[in-house]
Amino acid sequence: MSGQDFFHQGDRVAVLTAQPLDRLLDYRAPEGGCFRGAFVEVPLGPRKVLGVIWGNGGGDFDSAKLRSVIRVLDVAPMREEMRQFLGKAGDYTLTPMHAMLRLATRAPGLSDPPSMRKILRLGDNPPERMTDARTKVLAVMEEFGGLAFTSRELAEMADVTPSVVKGLVKQGALREEETPRDLPYPHLDPDLPSKDLTQDQAAAAAALAEGVHSGAYGTTLLKGVTGSGKTEVYLEAVAACLRKGRQALVLLPEIALTAEFLKRVEQRFGATPAEWHSGATMTERRRVWRMVGQGNAQLVIGARSALFLPFRDLGLIIVDEEHDGSYKQDEGVLYNARDMAVLRAAMCSAQVVLASATPSLETWANAEAGKYKRVDLTARFGTAVLPQMRAVDMRAEDLAPATWISPTLKQAMRLRMERGEQSLLFLNRRGFAPVTICRACGSQVACDHCDARMVEHRFMKRLMCHQCGETKPVPETCPSCQVEGKMAPVGPGIERLGEEAAALFPQARIAVLSSDLFGSARALKARIEDIAAGEADIILGTQLVAKGHNFPLLTLVGVIDADLGLQGSDLRAGERSFQLMRQVAGRAGRAERAGEALMQTFQPEHPVIRAILSGDEEEFWRAEAEQRRQAGVPPFGRMAGIILSGSDLAQVFDLGNALARNDGPLRQVGAQLFGPAPAPIARVRGRHRVRLLIKADKGVPLQEALARWTAPFNMKGDLRLNIDIDPQNFF
Ligand code: ADP
Ligand code: ZN
Repeated sequence: MSGQDFFHQGDRVAVLTAQPLDRLLDYRAPEGGCFRGAFVEVPLGPRKVLGVIWGNGGGDFDSAKLRSVIRVLDVAPMREEMRQFLGKAGDYTLTPMHAMLRLATRAPGLSDPPSMRKILRLGDNPPERMTDARTKVLAVMEEFGGLAFTSRELAEMADVTPSVVKGLVKQGALREEETPRDLPYPHLDPDLPSKDLTQDQAAAAAALAEGVHSGAYGTTLLKGVTGSGKTEVYLEAVAACLRKGRQALVLLPEIALTAEFLKRVEQRFGATPAEWHSGATMTERRRVWRMVGQGNAQLVIGARSALFLPFRDLGLIIVDEEHDGSYKQDEGVLYNARDMAVLRAAMCSAQVVLASATPSLETWANAEAGKYKRVDLTARFGTAVLPQMRAVDMRAEDLAPATWISPTLKQAMRLRMERGEQSLLFLNRRGFAPVTICRACGSQVACDHCDARMVEHRFMKRLMCHQCGETKPVPETCPSCQVEGKMAPVGPGIERLGEEAAALFPQARIAVLSSDLFGSARALKARIEDIAAGEADIILGTQLVAKGHNFPLLTLVGVIDADLGLQGSDLRAGERSFQLMRQVAGRAGRAERAGEALMQTFQPEHPVIRAILSGDEEEFWRAEAEQRRQAGVPPFGRMAGIILSGSDLAQVFDLGNALARNDGPLRQVGAQLFGPAPAPIARVRGRHRVRLLIKADKGVPLQEALARWTAPFNMKGDLRLNIDIDPQNFF
């Protein structure tokens, strides 16, 4: 490695900060010197900011003016492997390093001294006067031998008031000690008994464990139908990793939904692992960040940003539901956590397991090409079988106006009601109605700031823009023609479907599951647990329900509009629709009872619908892959999206045209440029959006060309240019 690893006091060092500057800053090493990678506090103008010692100082800054690093922070230095990872990830996504550092320091209070708290142990002086309350406290201390408690815990356990505990401290019967607030996570024991794996599962687990034992980088696609035991299998890979003394990370897409998951991990390893997600408290986040860095957290269950935690020795990353769209961050730093997991693992000689019932085409193709290993689980565990899937041809169904549940589906639901089983209706549309229209003039209510229609949410009695979140009351008079009393909802949202189901089955217990109907992730979790325990007859859900819950009593899934995802110019529309439908259908019949999935469609002969019904997945992927290969699009070619935005439409377009006229650096590498054109959502929050699309051959150094191409353009005023490498959404 170039450059030195330790800097003596006064040496010139280069420091990376999270401030929006495009370069490293030079300082002098502080008293006592510092290691490369150390987290430090440095003066910047009148402020003190957080930074990392990145290497030797550049030397071009006047040494007389050089200021000194203020102090080295009391956290583990950033490891070489992490510095490389941030560098490569930044290069790949064309993200400046200061923004990468911000991703890697998303914990509060890193520059605080380690915070302490008071705990109590048994003291040497028995109290002069015993009371019942005092006896109770001392009995708790005796019972738990050498353990220490905070005074609040102790008072609670002994069922006495805090003043009793305080009195005992004063007398010296209890002794106060200071300990760090951020405690190591409890030890996870990989040698506790696992479930008895089936032969298939055991073989899969052995294949993954072999990778872990190699101590080298490798990626494996773990493909298995919902309920086949993927989780059981990869937990054994985690066990192998923990036995080796290395750390493991499990990434989950929908972090709100981990109650059940954490319970399973706890059952397997005897203690709860560290949890990392945006819903965690500041204190929890700080503890995770620090303990991960010290090696005092063996396993982290987290959302995508957990990938940037400072693991001391990361040996395994599981990406569960690897095809999930939420792994792609769509704001700020545009990265795909699945791809970054592979990059990070390559840097630290770790294994990656990409688990899915319906892998992304990228992953499928990488396995086909031999870049990834592939392990398949083909059968559901136990007696559970995959649901029967059937199309309901809506052209032949007789539906009353403004209803969406076909007679065929209704009949199937009635059967479930009679048997005491659950039905799930799936509709990927939040709210009551997607459109509010004026019956007098035909105009639709749109958002004032976005190029989007307002969606009615009846439970909050308002219209809402799903782009910017703006809400307004449902108007009495039409905003366009001023006619009164003619505004009407058009089309179904999940809330409206709930009303229809209630009208059809007045005696049924109906549960509507949509992310916006719950005040907190906790409330949603609790509701889902109730439903799994049988507290509902009919469940209505949006995308949310497609993800990994077990509803043992569920035997019917009705997809209200299977055509919904098929339209659109998005190259992944077919793939997404396929994945979503298969996942939803997989919710049925997960326990002993067989399941059935009915898909309402107006185009039963559409290739995607046919592939879903036939269950011939390999055939579907081969066809998808062939289409994309011919079009030269990902994963067989490269793509980048450029979104230009600003409040002045003419200015945004001028910039787009100027970029298009000066595309020399792109042409040099043989890349093609499309646009500028209005983005599919042409206005968001009052900002106009214009899109350019770049296509190139697979081996082309696209990022470098993009950087050279865009560098000469200055962003005047509120103009913004965002580059999205491998765009997932085309909005
Ligand atoms: P997937 O992750 O593929 O959807 P899971 O690992 O969640 O599948 O398994 C589905 C259900 O079957 C879970 O309740 C799980 O505990 C159970 N299961 C799977 N394999 C076994 C096994 N070998 N022994 C006991 N239970 C199992
Ligand atoms: Zn809006």
